[in-house]
Amino acid sequence: MKKILITGGAGFIGSHVVRRFVNKYPEYQIFNLDALTYAGNLENIKDIEDKSNYTFVKGDIVDETFINELFSEHNFDGVLHLAAESHVDRSIEDPLAFVKTNVIGTMNLLNAAKNQWKGNFEGKRFYHISTDEVYGSLGAEGLFTETTSYDPNSPYSASKASSDHFVRAYGETYGLPYVLTNCSNNYGSYHFPEKLIPLFINNIINNKALPVYGDGNYTRDWLFVEDHAIAIDLVFHEGKNHETYNIGGFNEWKNIDLVKLLCQIMDQKLSRPEGTSQGLITYVKDRPGHDLRYAIDASKINKELGWKPSVTFEEGLEKTINWYLNNGEWLQNVTSGSYKDYYHKQYS
Ligand code: NAD
Repeated sequence: MKKILITGGAGFIGSHVVRRFVNKYPEYQIFNLDALTYAGNLENIKDIEDKSNYTFVKGDIVDETFINELFSEHNFDGVLHLAAESHVDRSIEDPLAFVKTNVIGTMNLLNAAKNQWKGNFEGKRFYHISTDEVYGSLGAEGLFTETTSYDPNSPYSASKASSDHFVRAYGETYGLPYVLTNCSNNYGSYHFPEKLIPLFINNIINNKALPVYGDGNYTRDWLFVEDHAIAIDLVFHEGKNHETYNIGGFNEWKNIDLVKLLCQIMDQKLSRPEGTSQGLITYVKDRPGHDLRYAIDASKINKELGWKPSVTFEEGLEKTINWYLNNGEWLQNVTSGSYKDYYHKQYS
């Protein structure tokens, strides 16, 4: 039986990865380590909590002693590292929190794996999950490839870039068997409503303003979260050691066009007159250091591992919107309490 540690499994992407691994690999013992910050929610993985191959561990990756003890107790065969501070706006408010979790936390996991495995890397693997934001901003043309130079512009992307560099350095220096992926923007169920798609779905439901940064021309590539989880499963099992793979949806949207599409679908779903939701769009002061365009060339993972998105954007959005409309209680629970304070500080 393999022992696998997944960090950040109570968060958005991590919950989809944990669910997939627990259900698909009954022969693995899956440990989900999560500090349950504002972004972590055990409701996200309620459906698997009683499975015999699943254990939840509450803990902070910044706590070196705790991480070392956890590794000595379990001697994991594999680590899938997703725990992170993940919201760019919050990184502008409190960059140090991002250095602690994203850099020091990653270092603690790397050190614990290195010290536990002691150069005996047979059957071991450290998988670091990262973002396309490390590459900085593109102009109107071109795509990020695995060899694009790093050029991070926000404290979030700088902290993720730093952790990526440390992972590669541990591979080069100590021979640690790692794989690394950089993925574009995800969307789907269990996404905390501070990020664009769930924020706007929630605001449309509640007839609240839709805050669009700047002129709305920022462009992002969008990938359905379950397709990211499929890619992560594939890279973990079939990716080559010391390799990086870009993951993306081949699906670029200007923010304003995406918001208008959401408005149109939501008007239909909520049986409101056409144009109602679009009337909620409000342009707000731009985010400092805002990257104009991200776009991923995902041809390497496609050619080498045969991965491509399994759903179209239309199908993914339909599933996502239906999920939020059918899970009002989840939305209400996560948007009560501290979310309200954050929201008012950010947008009023
Ligand atoms: P998220 O914010 O939804 O979840 C992060 C999880 O990590 C939460 O459950 C939180 O409780 C946990 N966590 C935070 N700090 C911790 C700590 N110190 N110790 C233990 N657990 C801690 O994030 P997400 O959107 O699911 O992103 C997961 C990973 O994927 C991140 O590494 C992120 O950089 C990367 N990524 C995200 C996207 C995206 O579009 N969301 C795209 C590409 C890559």
